[in-house]
Amino acid sequence: MQLKTRTKMFCRCPVGFGAGENTQTCPVCLGFPGALPVVNRAAVEWTILLGLALDCEIAEHAVFSRKNYFYFDNPKGYQISQYDLPFCIGGKVLVPTADGDRVIGIVRAHLEEDAAKTVHVGGRTGRIRGADYSLVDFNRCGTPLVEVVTEPDIRSAEEAKRFLQLLRQTIVELGISDAEMEKGTLRVDANVSVRPQGSDELRTRTEIKNMNSFNFIARGIEAEIERQIGVWESGGEVQQETYDFDAATGALTPHRAKEEADDYRYFPEPDLVPVEPPPELVERLRSELPELPAARIRRLEAELDLERATVLVTGGLDRLWQETVAAGAEKVSAANVIINAPAAAAIASAPAPELVKLVDARDRIPRTAFDEALSKISEPGFSADPYLAQEAVSDSAELEPIVARILQENPGQVAAYRNGKEGLLGFFVGQVMKETQGKANPRVVSELVKAKLSRSA
Ligand SMILES: [Zn+2]
Repeated sequence: MQLKTRTKMFCRCPVGFGAGENTQTCPVCLGFPGALPVVNRAAVEWTILLGLALDCEIAEHAVFSRKNYFYFDNPKGYQISQYDLPFCIGGKVLVPTADGDRVIGIVRAHLEEDAAKTVHVGGRTGRIRGADYSLVDFNRCGTPLVEVVTEPDIRSAEEAKRFLQLLRQTIVELGISDAEMEKGTLRVDANVSVRPQGSDELRTRTEIKNMNSFNFIARGIEAEIERQIGVWESGGEVQQETYDFDAATGALTPHRAKEEADDYRYFPEPDLVPVEPPPELVERLRSELPELPAARIRRLEAELDLERATVLVTGGLDRLWQETVAAGAEKVSAANVIINAPAAAAIASAPAPELVKLVDARDRIPRTAFDEALSKISEPGFSADPYLAQEAVSDSAELEPIVARILQENPGQVAAYRNGKEGLLGFFVGQVMKETQGKANPRVVSELVKAKLSRSA
């Protein structure tokens, strides 16, 4: 993940989006000879904070190392990273599931600098293969990155997705990164291997890169599992390779042969002294840790259920839910309204009292009015009252003639319904809703349709 520090990892260039290409650079991040790096204190503290949240041991002695490789996105010819002595070692994340907590081990979390951003222009697919030329933006060069490495404990694509959603929410709540996959501030490489059921060997793994949403990650992993099973079952052998996953086509294409760690010729960065975080700092950071998402899911599960609790917490919506319930809304109704809101991001800062009114009125106001109210609820000065005034038509006397007409106009469907196709109820209700421009109360309409069809049977 890219840390949202004000400045880069080893220089004072600002970190951020939107500036013109190659305007946020200096001799340090451009790798000029003789330019010396200075460690960003906030980046170190935030890495330790994340390590504590992941239940890691915090190193008393951490070292930055040079990872040597040549590529045009890396002007120094090496990246400053961490190798054998990272800040955070050996943690775990508990992922709540229906069968108890799944423990996902964390090998390490280390701090490093990002490479420049390259844009491949032209070519058939826009990738480097077949591209006409490449452009490099050094604004990203030297921005702080934290890499978290898990143990091989994740057993399915679904589990990977759950773990990542939980990890992302943790990062966001710690306030150390925006962790937005679409913007590239959270990037995921998935290592995948398969084995016969019951075996505990770890076979050769492959790595999948370039996945920019949780659903793509799950699909990419599924596709790679399929591919590897195919290779083994046809008598072949999986090779250690890196793949790009194309979410549009579902295709996996080889990226480049994965280098062995030795190829990078890591050695301690001679321009930086080791970092020895004092115990007081670590204890202060530990005391700043908020209640973590996994714990909140468990707490909410007791009041709701695991699925709703997970969606609320990983969507950052559980506080809103709690406020809404505290203000008088029914628990499950409030959860359903919040989870199914047309725009989860828009509802996150909704005023609880107004949301309570809407939760209570959900069955009484037209669906269109309800959806519109939810999409505007976070706007300054929002009031639910005008929407509540659009009470849905629940008056049977007013609705009955419309229901009768709809049934009359659809004799085929009426006959089918009476012959047992009860799913057609939704069709009749839908027709009445259309006829009343969405103003009818669907619950009342549904009762009327049922009554009418059984009465004249
Ligand atoms: Zn710089």
